[in-house]
Amino acid sequence: MTATISRFTTQRAPCGEMQDGERYLTEDQQGLITEELRYSCGCRSAKEEFHDGSVHRRQVHHKGRVLVDEELRGE
Ligand SMILES: [Zn+2]
Repeated sequence: MTATISRFTTQRAPCGEMQDGERYLTEDQQGLITEELRYSCGCRSAKEEFHDGSVHRRQVHHKGRVLVDEELRGE
């Protein structure tokens, strides 16, 4: 499993504010990719790609409310 951490600046967070933050990208041996954005306000946004091509998206507001939690089926 490999992980890459990088910083980003002024992206729109799930709460609507422009925020800096960190981007975590991890990939396991099977090629499963997870991308998570952690904004400085505390908001989080994650995207997981599965082997069958489906994608799970999740966004959490910095006050704890889940704004998006959905699975998109692959073709
Ligand atoms: Zn926020």
